Amino acid sequence: MPTDPASALPQAAARFADATRAAMPVARELFETIGAATGDGVGMAREPYSENEQKASDLLEAKARELCLELSTDAFGNLYMTLPGADRSAPGWITGSHIDSVPSGGNFDGLAGVVAGLTAVAALRAAGIVPATDITVMGVRAEEASAWYAGAHGGHIGSRSALGILPPAELDSAINTRSGRPLRAHMADAGFSPERVALGHGTLDLSRYRGWLELHIEQGPVLERLGLPVGVVTAIRGSARARSCRCTGAYTHSGAVPHEYRSDAVLATVELVHLIEQEATRVRASGGDLTCTVGKLFTDAELHSITKVPGQVDFCLEYRSQERSVLDHMADFARGQATRIAAERRVAFELGSFSPQDPATMDPGFRAALNQGAAALGIPAMDIPSGAGHDAQDFVHAGLPAAMIFVRNANGSHNAKEAMDYADFERGTRLLAWMMAQ
Ligand SMILES: [Zn+2]
Repeated sequence: MPTDPASALPQAAARFADATRAAMPVARELFETIGAATGDGVGMAREPYSENEQKASDLLEAKARELCLELSTDAFGNLYMTLPGADRSAPGWITGSHIDSVPSGGNFDGLAGVVAGLTAVAALRAAGIVPATDITVMGVRAEEASAWYAGAHGGHIGSRSALGILPPAELDSAINTRSGRPLRAHMADAGFSPERVALGHGTLDLSRYRGWLELHIEQGPVLERLGLPVGVVTAIRGSARARSCRCTGAYTHSGAVPHEYRSDAVLATVELVHLIEQEATRVRASGGDLTCTVGKLFTDAELHSITKVPGQVDFCLEYRSQERSVLDHMADFARGQATRIAAERRVAFELGSFSPQDPATMDPGFRAALNQGAAALGIPAMDIPSGAGHDAQDFVHAGLPAAMIFVRNANGSHNAKEAMDYADFERGTRLLAWMMAQ
């Protein structure tokens, strides 16, 4: 991978390139020491509120102390590391991502954003650049709680607690899949204060911040396929999920019953899924953003047989889109078609609630600034939606403008084979440093 020659860039851009490259040993050391300390033999195992998550936080804190940053933690274990800016009373930047990982996860999902924040701060320090306002690097706890806790909850525990938008009931309904105990108990055991969640006002004073900036590896293949090192995120897709859909027909003899007397749950469900896919293709062709997935579809193994007309199908249905109107349209479309098919095919559909989650649109001004920064710094970049959820969406939902930088990553994510090139990480971090120096 050729690096952008500093000599070919204008002086200000070359200064950022030199400073970020000089700070890269900070990043390498953090990735290596944290990776070595928090593995499970296959990949990373930084379970929320576990010893490993604490170890990662401690190693980040030690590096921040070396960099002479101001340090604090909140009641939920989130770590804050602040570089003072020229105007300390003005609202500053807050940047970072999550410290935890999925089971046997990769080392870069989440951690890259915290390390990028510290590396950017180290670069600014080394180059003698005093940012206009304070820069706070946040190491967020328990973003990946969904991978460790069953039951009704929405993950993103650290950010939503700090922002005061976590419903306290989730601390009890989230049940650890290994211990069987609720998240509330694990958070308390780790030395933090789940009871503070009930106060509902969080610990972050948003009036102190200009915006949230999050660098994250891309968890899909787009940047790699298109040969670009960096993406500027347009929005984090929202979702509409019907988790427990059922089509009920009637079990009958597969040879003896003519088709006009059947209530075939499989054929009815297949027709519905096919029409949903056709509609999704039409929405995308007319410029809409949409993914559509039937992640489960099954007949009852106790009752099904090759000689029976299937009497029941269970399935789920997930839509994701940057536009809430698209999610609502697709939920209505599924309901409308289910009603029509049910009447025609003598079955009953129960789709249940789609429990929509709003998309989080990234701040247009921040996005424009990041695109300008990428051009000024000689970093090839493209606009890209985020299909996966990130802490940034919680800041947006709490009312703080946000932006995200994606860094190219091979082999997907939520697995031990995540592969991010340090040259790409340096480019993303350089863009972050440039943005936060403004
Ligand atoms: Zn992540």
